[in-house]
Amino acid sequence: MSAMPKSSLDFEVPARTNVPHRTVAVAHGDGIGPEITDAVLHVLREAGVAIDFAPVTLGLRAYKEGHASGVPEDAWDSLARHKVLLKGPMTTPQGGGYKSVNVTLRKTLGLYANVRPCVAYHPYVHSPHPGMDVVIVRENEEDTYGGIEHRQTGEVTQCLKLISRPGCERIVRYAFEYARRQGRRKITCMSKDNIMKLTDGLFHRVFDEIAQEYPDIASEHRIIDIGAARLAVRPRDFDVVVTPNLYGDILSDIAAELAGSIGMAGSANIGADLAMFEAVHGSAPDIAGKNIANPSGMLLAAVMMLAHLGQQDKAELIHNAWLCTLEDGLHTLDILNEQTSKRQVGTREFAQAIVERLGKSPEHLKAARYPAAEPVAPAAHKTQSEPRPAVKACDGVDIFLDWAPAVRDPAVLAARLQQACPAGLRLAMMTNRGTKVWPNGNPDTFCTDHWRCRFRGGEGAVTPEAILELMRSLVAAGLPPIKSENLYRFDGNPGYSVAQGE
Ligand code: NAD
Repeated sequence: MSAMPKSSLDFEVPARTNVPHRTVAVAHGDGIGPEITDAVLHVLREAGVAIDFAPVTLGLRAYKEGHASGVPEDAWDSLARHKVLLKGPMTTPQGGGYKSVNVTLRKTLGLYANVRPCVAYHPYVHSPHPGMDVVIVRENEEDTYGGIEHRQTGEVTQCLKLISRPGCERIVRYAFEYARRQGRRKITCMSKDNIMKLTDGLFHRVFDEIAQEYPDIASEHRIIDIGAARLAVRPRDFDVVVTPNLYGDILSDIAAELAGSIGMAGSANIGADLAMFEAVHGSAPDIAGKNIANPSGMLLAAVMMLAHLGQQDKAELIHNAWLCTLEDGLHTLDILNEQTSKRQVGTREFAQAIVERLGKSPEHLKAARYPAAEPVAPAAHKTQSEPRPAVKACDGVDIFLDWAPAVRDPAVLAARLQQACPAGLRLAMMTNRGTKVWPNGNPDTFCTDHWRCRFRGGEGAVTPEAILELMRSLVAAGLPPIKSENLYRFDGNPGYSVAQGE
């Protein structure tokens, strides 16, 4: 056993198991990334994993070297070749600057499932919920994370939320397959389909459909707001939670923090062909370079990676040595407590303490067991979309306008629109930020400069030509559209939200 070297590139080659040898790409990341990655690589190598590590540069350093996406070409090549990435956290600027490398990687590589186990290690790590053991399965590619945003008026910005049927099918099926493989008994779907009836409604509907294929696993749906509140106070009511991207992002951070510390949760990003493993937490620039960061989140991610690569024996070896380290009271600053901490250790010392406990099993905490099977069956990746609708018919169009006179009277705008409307179409209603303001609006409704104006026509009247004619006519009337959305029916069912009283 060797002490932790100063750089992760200084390791001697350890004895190997007889599992097929793999090369895994490793990105050290930003902020605390390099120090926790070095700590994790030290443990892996001392445990004798059958893996070679190929370093790749991603994130801040790549941007500084002139790679606009944060991912240089040779990094893409390495990922395509090795198929698995162990990734340190990456810094993303807030409110501007370059796009998140994390999101780019997840979406470009098709890593559609983000699996985040959140487990309490009471009494060694303080948690308000000692028995907590919840896995959040977060959809990883869709939702508002497409980052498709626009500002089209002085006052209003928008973000497009995209939810697809194949996307829902893959993540929901993955969650059920995961639950079955891991011996978990219940899956809770969380969405907000009482408000977003089309997008979240699709997620919920697909969940209900696929749940029928897994009668051995209990299933339920909760609205995300009350579901998240219940998870925060009664996590024992939950086992596996599956949810769209944004809710899952928020929920998993809450769950990880409730379990003990954001520094303790690892995550797996799984695709049909590739996989990426990382901590749930970010680059923690506030504590970077101080040797105080907890490497546990990234270590548990690496343990998930070992199980994914079929090295379950090593996953078990490292996980149990880590549990022993917690039991022995050797704790990093974030989990230090008066009851069970014996000594505060730094990032490097914590890693070394784990190495010294390789081969030991915890006495009080539940020992980790990794069954020899692959964690997820290939069946999880399949989609079987419902047949395409037979009839898709356009029966209207929503035209959006930037209209900001000193007095914003919807009736005045409606009169101008009716005057400009070509024969065959009619103004059906107008909303402002989704609230109906014409006809029969409420004078108390606050109106911004962003107006949705819905035009309808008789059967077959709303053709692409008719929409273009309407737009030309609006331009001529001094009301140029800023965008439009066609209103389609699919086999007779409206594929758009209908305003109250419309
Ligand atoms: P963060 O998770 O980096 O830090 C939140 C808090 O938790 C900080 O007080 C930090 O010190 C603490 N913390 C985090 N990890 C810790 C650890 N291992 N040990 C001890 N304490 C730890 O969240 P943030 O500050 O909101 O984000 C910082 C940067 O990380 C941002 O640029 C953000 O975009 C990025 N980020 C990256 C990822 C990723 O790479 N997957 C995930 C989340 C955030």
